[in-house]
Amino acid sequence: MNYFALRSRRVLSPEGEVEGTLVIRDGLIESLLPYDEDPVCQIEDLGDLVLMSGLVDSHVHINEPGRTEWEGFETATQAAAAGGITTLVDMPLNCIPVTTSKEALEEKLEAVEGKLWVDCGFWGGVVPDSIEDLDKLLSAGVMGVKSFLIDSGIDEFPNVTREDLRRAMPIVAKHGVPYLIHAELQNDEAVENATMTNYADFLQSRPNSWETDAINLMISEMSACDCHLHIVHLSSAQALTSIKAARDKGIKLTVETCPHYLTLAAENIHENPNLFKCCPPIREDKNRLALWQALKEGLIDFIVSDHSPCTAELKLFDSDNLEGAWGGIAALQFDLPLIWTEARLQGFDLLEVNRLMSASTADFIGLGKVKGKLCQGYAADILVFNDDVEYSISSEMIRHKNKFTPYIGKKVRGKVERTYLRGQLIFSDDKFKGLPSGQPILKGKGGY
Ligand SMILES: [Zn+2]
Repeated sequence: MNYFALRSRRVLSPEGEVEGTLVIRDGLIESLLPYDEDPVCQIEDLGDLVLMSGLVDSHVHINEPGRTEWEGFETATQAAAAGGITTLVDMPLNCIPVTTSKEALEEKLEAVEGKLWVDCGFWGGVVPDSIEDLDKLLSAGVMGVKSFLIDSGIDEFPNVTREDLRRAMPIVAKHGVPYLIHAELQNDEAVENATMTNYADFLQSRPNSWETDAINLMISEMSACDCHLHIVHLSSAQALTSIKAARDKGIKLTVETCPHYLTLAAENIHENPNLFKCCPPIREDKNRLALWQALKEGLIDFIVSDHSPCTAELKLFDSDNLEGAWGGIAALQFDLPLIWTEARLQGFDLLEVNRLMSASTADFIGLGKVKGKLCQGYAADILVFNDDVEYSISSEMIRHKNKFTPYIGKKVRGKVERTYLRGQLIFSDDKFKGLPSGQPILKGKGGY
């Protein structure tokens, strides 16, 4: 029987940071007792290590089936477990087939069997030719859908137009799930350099206005439809004015950003710019600080990884061809130390960081009543965190498939000591424990 207790001087509970004894029974949190109270089960005292709810990362590209040389469910969910992430949601591209139909979702569900170290939900995709399949795809259990307003980089996942959106949005609204938008819209403000060799060239090729134009288009379309719009990976702080105005009008609009936009600045990227290529691009330091301010004000709702891995060959490391390199950053395992290191400097405490990476994302994917908090009756998805230790990220630490990330050598604070999934220890002392016990999560099925 799975019945035990973890005691700590620092438990991040919905009431704040407290001393307490967290009792776990059969995969659920049974209670949070006072520090000195002894339940009739084995009690382990973790001293000053922080007990917090496992992270929920709603933006991960796993690429299986079809592009498993880029990433796969086993390695991605191991990297997640090592990073304290207990639930993630897989993106509908760059796998083959892309997840734009019920049949493609079924192929994905076959592909995950026996490989999940953490729980995993799925986003569906909407492309112009898949709108007739959308209702069935949503009924099959995806947590919502995603479209691009610009070339996705993947031929099988073309962007939608305004007309496509007008067909798709009422169907998404009927299911009451979010519509995720990659918000960049091409205009003629991009500066095209004949040769793109440094990050400044790349940044100029994808200006702020691409993001603001896309977000303004979406807000104007949403005004006519009661559909929940979600902006993925916001990079440009200039779009925040429109976002605030839309929210003030009561439009259902949520926004996420990512560690790379919050911890890196374009003007500091010199060596190996291909490693830092992602879309939208990493912008200037003053933009980065404005994103932190928006998190503080609640204009940005949460932080997710946008873990977007590929092979080393596709990054074209040994060439100065930045234009041809795949855009994407892979680092989900390091999100918490990266964010905690910077968040402290920005005046955030660990409770706020935990909320931004767990409770808020759990709410967003519709699991806010079962995951994302150390609360009675919730899943015992627990992360044991040493928030004080400092170290440098090295390639030997990487658990995702292709062992590169822009953060090699970066000094960070905070280490994931252990991860529990539904009361089972899955990661401890830098090792995975037991067998993969993660479950696929389908909306509307099996208790979710
Ligand atoms: Zn993405």
